Amino acid sequence: MAVRRWMIAGYVLCFVVMRLAAAEHPESSLQSITTNDLLKHIRVLASDEFEGRAPRSPGEEKTIRYLMEQFKALGLKPGNPDGTYLQNVPLAGFTSEPTIIFTAGGKALDVAWPKDCVAWSRRLVPEVSVENTDIVFVGYGIVAPEYDWDDYKGVDVRGKTILMLINDPPIPDPSDPSKLDDRMFKGRGMTYYGRWTYKYEIATAKGAAAAIIVHETGPAGYPWAVVVGSNSRENMDLQSADGNKDRVAIEGWISLDMAKRLCSAAGEDYDLLKAKALRRDFRPVPFDAKASFAVSNILRDISSRNVVAKIEGADPKLKDEYVIYSAHWDHLGRNPKLPGDQVYNGALDNASGTAALLELAEAFTKVRPKRTVLFLSVTAEEKGLLGAKYYVTRPLYPLERTLGNINIDGINVWGRTRDIGLVGVGQSTMEDLLPSFATAQGRKVVPEAEPEKGYYYRSDHFEFAKVGVPALYTDRGTDYLGKPADFGKRKREEYIANDYHKVSDEIKPDWDLSGAVEDLRLLFQVGYAVAQGDTRPEWKSGSEFKKVRR
Ligand SMILES: [Zn+2]
Repeated sequence: MAVRRWMIAGYVLCFVVMRLAAAEHPESSLQSITTNDLLKHIRVLASDEFEGRAPRSPGEEKTIRYLMEQFKALGLKPGNPDGTYLQNVPLAGFTSEPTIIFTAGGKALDVAWPKDCVAWSRRLVPEVSVENTDIVFVGYGIVAPEYDWDDYKGVDVRGKTILMLINDPPIPDPSDPSKLDDRMFKGRGMTYYGRWTYKYEIATAKGAAAAIIVHETGPAGYPWAVVVGSNSRENMDLQSADGNKDRVAIEGWISLDMAKRLCSAAGEDYDLLKAKALRRDFRPVPFDAKASFAVSNILRDISSRNVVAKIEGADPKLKDEYVIYSAHWDHLGRNPKLPGDQVYNGALDNASGTAALLELAEAFTKVRPKRTVLFLSVTAEEKGLLGAKYYVTRPLYPLERTLGNINIDGINVWGRTRDIGLVGVGQSTMEDLLPSFATAQGRKVVPEAEPEKGYYYRSDHFEFAKVGVPALYTDRGTDYLGKPADFGKRKREEYIANDYHKVSDEIKPDWDLSGAVEDLRLLFQVGYAVAQGDTRPEWKSGSEFKKVRR
């Protein structure tokens, strides 16, 4: 008996010592993040059985059940104060079928949907049409007082169809025209003005009837096929009381080829217009052409869910402050019209990030953070960051006590790198925590490989940024160990061209998650530092989000 009692005491003591040791040295956290665990989760989430994880599908049920089971098994508490792991997200689904007519000189042009042009309406009503509207080319469609830039120059575009260029204007540096001017729209980097979301927002503000953006593959970062893919099926928005009745009636994209045909039919030259649009003195150009759109919307109410779990802070005061890790669980679902493979498995996008979220959650079970750490797996990112947008409009915990967000959308699947990319350099002080941890791994932090693609505005952390919560988003490195110098760039380009948002985004035989493990250990350390630290992350002075933070 006595021996047994001592053994039990010994175990208890051992356990306490281990817990204390763990609290000071999160080494066991780092070790708990493994390639095997990541792959195990990805295999489940990206399986055909999960049907591409579309919101409100059998795939959603399977996905959220899997996530809840995993969080529970890890010992995480329900993240919703109502005692569940779920936050309901009411969405509106709309499937827009447009008829699109462009006429010039009284003659109709040959326009096929979705081959040449896509259009939809976010007004949540069954029929939306705009008829015989004037077409006005508005350059980049930007009003940016801080750059003394206004593409509209007071020209009234109410009731008209505005045609806009993609991204923000790439303005050459006057002292070296081979480079972009860093003082204008962040040079090679993208600002929010370059995002299509901004362009439709300003079109709404200007009272335009229709807003059409010219697609170009290079600046977009994805081919026209991606535009077609995401706009010729059901799309979603958050439910709104007024059915979005004040929004621009028609939104859309036009292919570069079609835009050029439209320009020449209207007696304009696309390349010439584009050159004019780079100048501050650009003025809107009315076309000798008209546009009509008739959109029929098939509408349905969709109730989806964010999954949220938490590790409660150990400090009685600081536990009411929060660090949020996020990753979207949703992807594009299934398309029964496709011949052959119909499942958008989204193995990289974002089964991999969801697996990473689970691994980070496990890592945090090995320590006792002072502040509360939330793991938020959001829905409908692919439909426009909707799950994250819903969370920040109805936060489960006060945003002013949410110290920071760390988001994961796609992990590195091609092996170890000497570097890690930082997306949106200069945004918040959270990025200052990265380099010392990276150095300890023998790695360095580098600016994101493609700042021109605006990745800082393209995943869920952006919704946190918009409401002022400092947000960190990293990207895989480009300098791969034991690989040719161009390997990283090549793999990235291959992925975008062949697999991004396609049914072929599946686990590949050449995947090597050892680099992702290192990246995630860094993200663990940054989040842990914020959870333990004495200083709150803040936006930096150059950030467009600084003014939002209270
Ligand atoms: Zn994604």
